[in-house]
Amino acid sequence: MSIVQTEPSSPIILAENLTKVYQAGRLQVTAVREVSLAVERGEFVAIVGPSGSGKSTLFYLLGGLTQATHGRVVIDGIDFATLNDGERTRLRKQRIGFVFQKFNLLPTLSALGNIEIAWAVSGRSGQLDLRYLDHLSELLSIQGRLDHRPSELSGGEQQRVAIARALITRPAIVLADEPTGNLDTKNSEAVLQMLLRSNRELGQTTLMITHNPEAAAIASRILYMRDGQIVREEKGSRSDIVLPTAGSAFEGAAWPVAASAPAAEI
Ligand code: ADP
Repeated sequence: MSIVQTEPSSPIILAENLTKVYQAGRLQVTAVREVSLAVERGEFVAIVGPSGSGKSTLFYLLGGLTQATHGRVVIDGIDFATLNDGERTRLRKQRIGFVFQKFNLLPTLSALGNIEIAWAVSGRSGQLDLRYLDHLSELLSIQGRLDHRPSELSGGEQQRVAIARALITRPAIVLADEPTGNLDTKNSEAVLQMLLRSNRELGQTTLMITHNPEAAAIASRILYMRDGQIVREEKGSRSDIVLPTAGSAFEGAAWPVAASAPAAEI
């Protein structure tokens, strides 16, 4: 197996001529068409576009959840195409935290159980860092809700638990697919601020898919998709917002993203 491990200064997400064609019966649908993009470490990028423009497909391609018809995705210097299924899964678990519109929490587990299991399946060595869990819970305002099952939580709380689950492994990259899609305005704003805070304070690279221009405005860069292609890009009009103090000692220096595993461990 040859693994392309590039310099740490290179983009953390690199897509080159990505194309995904679905076969729908006798019809072929090109959901993503020759998309190339580079996301630098620490960037917060939003991908916006109308329904059917290819956002979710691009998200699945960048997250290694589906394979490109052609083109390539390089994550933190490693080309997905050079990995087998097991290696790709390990790369995902080590580098990427996912947040989905429908939260995807396990209904039979408490909020804490959902966060713990994410740690357990991540393949990381050592115990769950309880001090970090405390900080995350405080940051996300879920301290008092950890014993509750998802059905006992509001949508906003469920999404904040899902974010804690995504962040517990301190992934270098957070991929969020319509994270505010099922939330009211107040909860949406809270979740967006959490994503922005984790991006700024944990040094994560965040890529968020949304059809909501207001949500996208907090990103440092907004990419507009149409008909499977990125047609325009601009700076987010709210990207410079100053966040209210978290009320916790939640500092990037204390909780850096996990160090990249050497290529041999993938
Ligand atoms: P968005 O997330 O912007 O709504 P999608 O990536 O879901 O866009 O879809 C892009 C296009 O690909 C649409 O025309 C959609 O119908 C089609 N598509 C998505 N998934 C599949 C699939 N599994 N099989 C066939 N066509 C698909």
